[in-house]
Amino acid sequence: MWGCRGSKSFIPARSRIGNYTSCYSLQDGSDLYVFDAGLGIASLSYEIHRQRRFGVVKRIYVLITHAHLDHWEGLKDADWFWERDNGLEIRIIGLDEAINAIKRGYEHPSFVDLDLLARFTVARLEFISFSFGDVLELGNWKLENIALNHYSGTPEDKSVVQTSGYRLSREGGPVVCYISDHEPGPGTVDAEKKLTEGGNLVLYDSHFPTIAEQRFGHGSQEHSANVAKGDPNLLVVAGHHGPMYSDVDVEKTFRRLAKGLDNFAIAVEGRGFVWDAASSRFLVEEAREPHPEIAKASAAKG
Ligand SMILES: [Zn+2]
Ligand SMILES: [Zn+2]
Repeated sequence: MWGCRGSKSFIPARSRIGNYTSCYSLQDGSDLYVFDAGLGIASLSYEIHRQRRFGVVKRIYVLITHAHLDHWEGLKDADWFWERDNGLEIRIIGLDEAINAIKRGYEHPSFVDLDLLARFTVARLEFISFSFGDVLELGNWKLENIALNHYSGTPEDKSVVQTSGYRLSREGGPVVCYISDHEPGPGTVDAEKKLTEGGNLVLYDSHFPTIAEQRFGHGSQEHSANVAKGDPNLLVVAGHHGPMYSDVDVEKTFRRLAKGLDNFAIAVEGRGFVWDAASSRFLVEEAREPHPEIAKASAAKG
């Protein structure tokens, strides 16, 4: 988990839980699947040439959920667009609306075309757009999608944003789902259930504490906890933490809702899960030592 803060980043970093906008990755050998490209992708791209486990990564599939820029603003900060001839293959995948927004966002004179940045750095950059309901084969994994309930504006005056929820699965392996950004309601329950059916892990938009507070196309920890309650085999991870909530707020809500649930967790940057094929479950990954340079910098600061 690289970026689990919703909507805006905390700069300077001031949270133990999440400081950067949306980005989560799933590694399977030389393939890396990245859910959203918020500012958290800068941390991922920094670590990719530093952590031994990433040494084998060759192909990166960046799965964008929607056009809001907190879900793609980190692309320009990804080291792989700045390090010469780094050999990585990048594919940016999303709905037409999202892909067009990204291309336009980086176009001259706003910035430098990503195609131009890519020319001297990565081995390949490809944009792939799809429509709702399409199934994509990406390496050994199958990517399915559903339409989520997301909008800007107010409940009375909605500007709907085309947003896809993802289901990523591989034969004999886990099923991982990503539902962000999304405001759940009575009308969305069936679609969510269908997407996560038989799933092992789902990352859920949990912007607000309670269902009653849900608005602006965002969900709540309460809804996420309810999903966990309804499916004990599904690990539900609450992400997209609202920027108006402190660590104490997020943890207090979590403690209240997680009582009696061992398949409910909050997303925390720098933490992760590892698939355990023997038990068919995701286990909490042991904490990693920070990269020596980062450890040195924080020691000097402290
Ligand atoms: Zn968002
Ligand atoms: Zn959004």
